[in-house]
Amino acid sequence: MRVLIIGAVAAGTSAAAKARRNDESADIVIYEKDKDISYSGCGMPYYLGGEVKDIAQLTPRDAAFFKNKYNVDVLTRHEVLSIHTGNKQIVVKNLETQDVMADTYDKLVLATGAVAAVPPIKGIAQKHVFTLRSIADTRRIKAFIDESKPQRAAIIGSGYIGLEVCENLRHIGMDVTLIEKMQQVAPRLDSDMAEYVKKYLKDKGVPVITGADVKEISSRAVIFSGGQAVEADMVLVCTGVRPNVSLAKEAGILLGETGAISVDRFMRTNMKDIYACGDCAEQLQLVTGKPVYCPLGSTANKTGRITGDVITGGGLEFQGILGTGIFRIFDMCVAHTGLSESEAVAEGFDIAISHNIKPNRPEYLGGKEMVIKTVADKATGRLLGAQIVGYDGVDKRIDVFATAITFGAKAKDLPHLDLAYAPPYSTTKDPVIYSGMILENAISRGRPLMDAKALDALMRSGREYTLIDARETEQYSDAHIESAKSIPHAQLRKSTDKLNKDAVAVTYCNKGVTGNAAQNILLAQGFKEVYNLSGGHKHYKTVKNSD
Ligand SMILES: Cc1cc2nc3c(=O)[nH]c(=O)nc-3n(C[C@H](O)[C@H](O)[C@H](O)COP(=O)(O)OP(=O)(O)OC[C@H]3O[C@@H](n4cnc5c(N)ncnc54)[C@H](O)[C@@H]3O)c2cc1C
Repeated sequence: MRVLIIGAVAAGTSAAAKARRNDESADIVIYEKDKDISYSGCGMPYYLGGEVKDIAQLTPRDAAFFKNKYNVDVLTRHEVLSIHTGNKQIVVKNLETQDVMADTYDKLVLATGAVAAVPPIKGIAQKHVFTLRSIADTRRIKAFIDESKPQRAAIIGSGYIGLEVCENLRHIGMDVTLIEKMQQVAPRLDSDMAEYVKKYLKDKGVPVITGADVKEISSRAVIFSGGQAVEADMVLVCTGVRPNVSLAKEAGILLGETGAISVDRFMRTNMKDIYACGDCAEQLQLVTGKPVYCPLGSTANKTGRITGDVITGGGLEFQGILGTGIFRIFDMCVAHTGLSESEAVAEGFDIAISHNIKPNRPEYLGGKEMVIKTVADKATGRLLGAQIVGYDGVDKRIDVFATAITFGAKAKDLPHLDLAYAPPYSTTKDPVIYSGMILENAISRGRPLMDAKALDALMRSGREYTLIDARETEQYSDAHIESAKSIPHAQLRKSTDKLNKDAVAVTYCNKGVTGNAAQNILLAQGFKEVYNLSGGHKHYKTVKNSD
């Protein structure tokens, strides 16, 4: 059997390695148009920032490694020009010699990845404007920094790559401005969670411009449609990627609605004996059961391995993804899994959401707060997604959520998880457990939550409502939500006779716990409709103080 693979980064090399493990006799050839193979694209920002000292650490394997270890031929600087499904041939050009040849496959794997999506901005083709997708891009950027010594960088796009590059350019002493077309940074997060990231960037001295319409890049500035400009000696365009599917499209291989190659659970395309994996292919979203495009290295490795198994007769089947992602921005860690609030609403779920602010470990051991937003389906109690912004320990919590959601957990299952506890690592009730308790209370124990958006809508609605600030009076005096009455929790039991039990009541404290205690008192005293403000005053303030 002759296996041809196009693309030799994460998916292609994973497919080759797995195919070889299963089948010692197959001829396996990978064609790669670039020079570098099997590299860690995810590590590239950290090379720019000096945390990775030598770029060779990101490219530990070459063609000789694959030949020696796997008996796989990796032909670099070989571009596949076309696929001919009728006679199972591909046409390949050797980019060094310009020779063109044909090769024949029994199984063909497309692992052509993604390319940077570059918006049509005037001046984008200049020498000081870069995208960061490959090792070659990284070398170009590093050479420019070393030779031209730029002082001011502008980054267009605030997805995780833009944010990682931002941190790393700051590490090497550059002034960085972050420019984002949307009204929020980190577009994969809900806007309320993104506010924490934006605020943190500002605290770190990074100017952030959201809602920006970049019109032009000049030799010294990024210029907006309104005429304002940000000075920049170097510009990084981090505006996302699109699947690299031109070869597939020309060969008549079916693309899905997302624009990436449509594959089934066995990574098969619509063409016999042609498979696709990694960033060029769609994935199955576990919660919705629908195809999504979520180009990540974690998924590329997984789908590559499954492809290698399937083409050699193995029994692996792709189970789907949650699109779990995580990134660091300075000391902050941001992570998400499953559906965001906006995605869940768009999918038609009637959702409960909670914001839970808890330290990752006791404060006496230096614990720092994380904010966990969870989304669950009200009808079934099933968890749909989680987003976390914090510092230490965000990584393990998001993986607990990802695992729980993968296995169909309901909110009420979370408090029963037997999670590890010792003070250096967690609190006696882990933040994940608290999130489950809050959601369960909201969904099935008559303790509903109201978020900042809904509270604002209520305040504008003209309906009669009572908003109770259950914190101490000093905290109320420092700052409170307009129209809130100060009734500290300890006095609430004796103060309810002056309140209208038929009006909607909303309670809040600083983060939510005392707000819930106040909610319990009002419900016990016969108030008809009582909500606790999700995430309390602290979350409300963060969301409202955004500009
Ligand atoms: C800066 C950065 C940071 C990242 N950080 C993370 C992270 O922290 N976590 C995470 O999960 N993911 C991360 N990613 C994403 C991850 O790197 C990609 O998902 C992964 O590289 C995809 O692998 P792939 O093999 O599918 O595609 P690619 O890496 O795009 O490789 C495809 C290869 O196919 C070759 N090719 C294409 N067409 C042809 C042709 N016609 N002939 C021959 N060769 C061809 C290309 O030259 C390319 O080398 C990051 C990406 C970047 C750029």
